[in-house]
Amino acid sequence: MSRIAYVNGRYVPHRTASVHVEDRGYQFSDGVYEVCEVRGGHLVDARRHLDRLERSLSELRIAMPMGRAALMAVLREVVARNGVKNGIVYLQATRGVARRDHAFPAPGTAPSLVVTARRADMAAQERLATVGVHVICVPENRWPRVDIKTVGLLPNVLAKQQAKEAGAREAWFVDAEGHVTEGSSTNAWIVTGDGQIVTRPAESGILKGITRAVVMEAAKALGLVVVERAFTPQEAYAAREAFITAASTLVMPVVEIDGHTIANGQPGSVARELRQRFHDFSEVS
Ligand code: PMP
Repeated sequence: MSRIAYVNGRYVPHRTASVHVEDRGYQFSDGVYEVCEVRGGHLVDARRHLDRLERSLSELRIAMPMGRAALMAVLREVVARNGVKNGIVYLQATRGVARRDHAFPAPGTAPSLVVTARRADMAAQERLATVGVHVICVPENRWPRVDIKTVGLLPNVLAKQQAKEAGAREAWFVDAEGHVTEGSSTNAWIVTGDGQIVTRPAESGILKGITRAVVMEAAKALGLVVVERAFTPQEAYAAREAFITAASTLVMPVVEIDGHTIANGQPGSVARELRQRFHDFSEVS
């Protein structure tokens, strides 16, 4: 089945799908995105992802490209046309196409909307989760508004590449106070010696992950204690467990940070349970 993308009102072959050279997303990273898990052909937690999309857009004063019901229909259509059973659907909305000028274009300039979908190798993901991943820490160098899910991801790109070159899967940003903020594309978690699940508060310094929110609900429902506080890499090295969360990776155990083996080097039981039970707590639509 050949891939199809949605681009500004049309379903087009993925290999030739393109936006205008003066799209503000292309020229200024003036846009936002969402990644939603697809499971069994259904969208996972779409309502929360669209809530966050609306918030990101409103923070940047970009109009919703279409109403929520229409957007849901496009997401579903792209998933269906690509025959995606398990994978992700990607949505990007920008301030639209206009003559290059930093200030906003004329009112009424239509936002651009692109939607793509792709399959995930579920077996490979599960295999990875049974061994866990390695993480490195890098200095935080992003702008303070990382709560907005913008397509301006250059520090994240560089951090991920640095991780890859170090043989790791993820890089955790560490702020000026010495605390881990989040991963380049994931939220960061540890489990302390006394079994508390710790993740940084989402008021500032991180993207408020949808997976993070669902995992917090799941953990509480399973009788686990979740504490929202900052932690240092040193605390993480000595933690009982560590893991990362994102819509595309769900709960992924971390077994090594900056060369320090976490506990016995095996995925921890809390991360494994949260991964297994995640979909009992997520919303399907
Ligand atoms: N932080 C960052 C920087 C991310 O890019 C992502 C994934 N898009 C996350 C956290 C996790 O968010 P979510 O659980 O909503 O995918």
